[in-house]
Amino acid sequence: MKESTLLQIAEDYGSPIYVYDAHKIESQYNRLTTAFSGVKKLKIHYAAKALTNISVLKFVSKLGAALDTVSIQEVQLGLKAGFAPKNIIYTPNGVSLKEIETVAELGVQINIDSLDLLEQFGSKHPETPVCIRINPHVMAGGNTNISVGHIDSKFGISIHQIPLLLRIVENTGMNINGIHMHTGSDILDIDVFLYASEILFETAKKFKNLTFIDFGSGFKVPYKPNDIETNIEELGEKLAERFNTFCENYGKALTLAFEPGKFIVSQSGYFLTKVNAIKQTTSTVFAQVDSGFNHLIRPMLYGAQHHIENISNPNGKERFYSVVGYICETDTFANNRRIKEIAEGDILAFHNAGAYCFMMSSNYNSRYRPAEVLWYNDKAHLIRNRETLEDLLTNQVELEF
Ligand SMILES: *Cc1c(COP(=O)(O)O)cnc(C)c1O
Repeated sequence: MKESTLLQIAEDYGSPIYVYDAHKIESQYNRLTTAFSGVKKLKIHYAAKALTNISVLKFVSKLGAALDTVSIQEVQLGLKAGFAPKNIIYTPNGVSLKEIETVAELGVQINIDSLDLLEQFGSKHPETPVCIRINPHVMAGGNTNISVGHIDSKFGISIHQIPLLLRIVENTGMNINGIHMHTGSDILDIDVFLYASEILFETAKKFKNLTFIDFGSGFKVPYKPNDIETNIEELGEKLAERFNTFCENYGKALTLAFEPGKFIVSQSGYFLTKVNAIKQTTSTVFAQVDSGFNHLIRPMLYGAQHHIENISNPNGKERFYSVVGYICETDTFANNRRIKEIAEGDILAFHNAGAYCFMMSSNYNSRYRPAEVLWYNDKAHLIRNRETLEDLLTNQVELEF
């Protein structure tokens, strides 16, 4: 998006604010479908948890995407946004049997990732088709906070437990219609992904009634200049070829499914904050913005590096700043970062603010959560109002003493 457009949005709607470029969401979605055009049946489940605003869900649904959900609430929001139940997959972890049953009754595709729950569910509902989440124990990512494929991971059914899994399926007479993996949120290497896929194919052979194989996600997008990104076109070509061979041997054209969140929405998002003050200490020049980890926690939580741009002074001289927030706790967004010279009142734009940013925001310090805007058809559309004091008190019960 153009700097002038972002500045205008900050002026019209105030700061802090999240802005999402619908055109970028669409082009990323199209990149994926084009990359995998070599397979007969493709299904892209957008991972709702990355950005769940109802207008974004509706837009993604209009593009033709299916939906990946991890809670019954995400399922309900997806249904409200217009996704057909059969186009929603539900991949929870550690939830109750009751919740799985309720979601199954809605006609949503269930994906189970524990043998205990598989046996409980299969015994009661052998007729409901179920997908199983396999843990191939492949470390796809470099960051252990977001890698979920390792041996100690709580996710998935271990590849070493397949014999017990098969016994449960046989004993209950349940119908396994899909095989799934999601190895983590940072696939650095296509070969690693293809290696994990081979394990999934080996597992898939053991089930006779499959209709799809779901390869999860983990596609990497660049966060800072010169960052690497998953070469989706190369992966598409290689995996499609391998998948088609598998289907030939299996004797049936299965659906190839993915569940990208970050890949679809991360780069569409900008988080706009205003600089309240420049504070010099003996060692550092701080730029203090009207936000904190209550609005964008990824830098503090994961050490994520969001590129920060001073859109009020795009042609200024570069200086070094530490960008921090206004929360009464350490809330560093960036340390010693080269940014165009900052003055009080300038608007700083954080890039890659589409995925896992607003969704992880909170009211800590009793601050309002930011508003959200969708840039669509060359127009700004407010898709979430800024909160008010009333919102902070909603659901609180005020006692009189
Ligand atoms: C979070 C999640 C995804 C999306 O991961 P991204 O890194 O955002 O693409 C996909 N599938 C499952 C099961 C997830 O939990």
